[in-house]
Amino acid sequence: MKNLIYILFPRRCVGCGKVIYPNEKFCEDCDFEKFRIQYPKCFYCGQENNLCSCSLFERKYDYIFSPFYYDDIISKSITRFKYNGHLDNGKFFADEMSRSLMKDFDYEKIDVVLNVPMTKKSKRMHGFSQTAYLAKIISENIEKTFEPLCLIKTRETPSQKNLKFKERITNLKGAFRVSEKIDLKGKTVLLCDDVKTTGTTLNECSKALKRAGAKQVVCLTAAMTKFKIRGEEN
Ligand SMILES: [Zn+2]
Ligand SMILES: [Zn+2]
Repeated sequence: MKNLIYILFPRRCVGCGKVIYPNEKFCEDCDFEKFRIQYPKCFYCGQENNLCSCSLFERKYDYIFSPFYYDDIISKSITRFKYNGHLDNGKFFADEMSRSLMKDFDYEKIDVVLNVPMTKKSKRMHGFSQTAYLAKIISENIEKTFEPLCLIKTRETPSQKNLKFKERITNLKGAFRVSEKIDLKGKTVLLCDDVKTTGTTLNECSKALKRAGAKQVVCLTAAMTKFKIRGEEN
């Protein structure tokens, strides 16, 4: 019976999607460790200490944690989770995110777990909210309440992907609000997203959360763009 399941639903490498043996996670060509963010790291921008970009970018959240840099197989793996519905990949990242958080932050302080909301259009296109999927698993791992409808996107915005740094900021200005059904006063909030690039989305969400009274906003993403000393963080 078990074998039949593997034939019908073969196990795929989290990195490249190749069919692999049932008890493995990766094929031999995919090395996730190469993209893991190494210690010592800065808990305010999430980068390795020598790439700390805290003094260069405005930050509205208090901390950010991320297990991986967004590159190569990591980005391919996240793309397959986001756009092709490979939920195994999502589960893998949610578990990695949980481990990063538990290692780097006193997670008992977290009162509530939230996800960055998606526009209705992209939810319709992909059939589910990937950020909610990640946040739900994380909330179970750390045994905290998940409030999927706390942050609300107030208007449809063009995808951030194709915009320049400055356009990204204006694109999302005031695009999020907090549901009046949920009281965040004095709370420490864990905000989950799939990828951090410029941090604009996390900043705008954090502003809304702080306006609603949140004491601290702790961000957690599956991956983040590696900051390059020269050039624009993107
Ligand atoms: Zn692979
Ligand atoms: Zn930093």
